[in-house]
Amino acid sequence: MAQFRTILPAAVGAGAQDSTLGVMGGGQLGRMFVHAAQRLGYFTAVLDPDVASPAGLVSHVHVQTDYLDEQGLAQMLRRCSAITTEFENVPAGALYTLGAHLPTAPGAESVAICQDRKLEKQHFVRCGVPCAPHAVIETAEQLATVDADLLPGILKTTRLGYDGKGQVRVATRDALAAAWSELRQAPCVLEKLLPLDFELSVILARDADGHSVALPVQQNLHRDGVLAVTQVPGPRVTAALAAQATAAAQRIADGLHYVGVLCVEFFVLQDGSLVANEMAPRPHNSGHYSIDACDVSQFDLQVRCMTGLPLPPPRLHSPAVMLNLLGDLWFDDAGRERTPDWTAVLALPGAHLHLYGKSSARRGRKMGHLTLTAATPDAARALALQAAERLGLPAF
Ligand code: ATP
Ligand code: MG
Repeated sequence: MAQFRTILPAAVGAGAQDSTLGVMGGGQLGRMFVHAAQRLGYFTAVLDPDVASPAGLVSHVHVQTDYLDEQGLAQMLRRCSAITTEFENVPAGALYTLGAHLPTAPGAESVAICQDRKLEKQHFVRCGVPCAPHAVIETAEQLATVDADLLPGILKTTRLGYDGKGQVRVATRDALAAAWSELRQAPCVLEKLLPLDFELSVILARDADGHSVALPVQQNLHRDGVLAVTQVPGPRVTAALAAQATAAAQRIADGLHYVGVLCVEFFVLQDGSLVANEMAPRPHNSGHYSIDACDVSQFDLQVRCMTGLPLPPPRLHSPAVMLNLLGDLWFDDAGRERTPDWTAVLALPGAHLHLYGKSSARRGRKMGHLTLTAATPDAARALALQAAERLGLPAF
């Protein structure tokens, strides 16, 4: 495995050699990574098969191949000084290949664990962090003998799920069997449906020396399994709860010898207990507010981790509320396409609009986000409610 070293931004007059940062995946997370890297004076290379990927459109170089394409990977190796990922389903094999020659943050082993709900839960347990009671379902026999106490539950594919995709809620054994067929009998985890009070997430950055810093804890609201609203500070997140969640995320990162930005999502149950849901080996939708509300964003931290630059503790300079902008907003009640009323939203003080440059809108597709910052948490929330109303989003 290649060793980490300090990679500095390009010197005045120097070319891209020795100061190009590569990212696997060209979605919105890659785009915001590219923005952060370029602001510091780095060159960037994005590998993504899509000709119009949001990050490919803004990067110095877009390597437009499959993630496992030998020539594509060779090009990344030739051009880049370090590699990161923005997409957790980049085949771990690609990261092993890259990591053999270049510093790769996060490493392939960590990503491989995050890609698999079964391994992920085993890791939580190993680190002494509680997760939902669950059973692995890989065979018809496991399906038939599953503990009735796990029902009602949620059947989730162990791999390739995101934004609630690859998940079915089941109340009975019959429904469970039908759901497993619906998921094409892919390896799954059946999780007990837990009585959630609310949800939060911790985003931390850890360097190759094991030093880590965390963003302030995010309180998250999901609608239909997709993140809708993030509030920081979270109205329900006490200092004690934030410390407990941050310490748990830290144990999870330390246990992986993780290098890079890691997000751990948690449930807070109605009895007040904290349960780890899942983790993502990359910046996370719930950390987007940090671009406008913190003095170091999650994407700045990603750049710093892979280049061996210092990791200062992030400070929240403005209370913030982030609203996700899904493709649904691009359609009116009759299903006709429209453009949301950005002028009305941008008239609000402290409104930071981020659009990802996607070429078409689909219902449920993440098209952008809007962060509202203000002097106090109450003011940020009031602004966000106004913005939601102007966009036709539900109150929260
Ligand atoms: P994403 O990639 O967007 O984070 P995902 O598809 O990986 O989502 P999960 O995080 O597993 O999905 O679940 C999405 C949401 O569904 C959770 O944030 C939570 O609101 C709800 N949920 C998931 N598992 C449970 C559970 N065991 N009990 C109650 N609610 C759950
Ligand atoms: Mg999730």
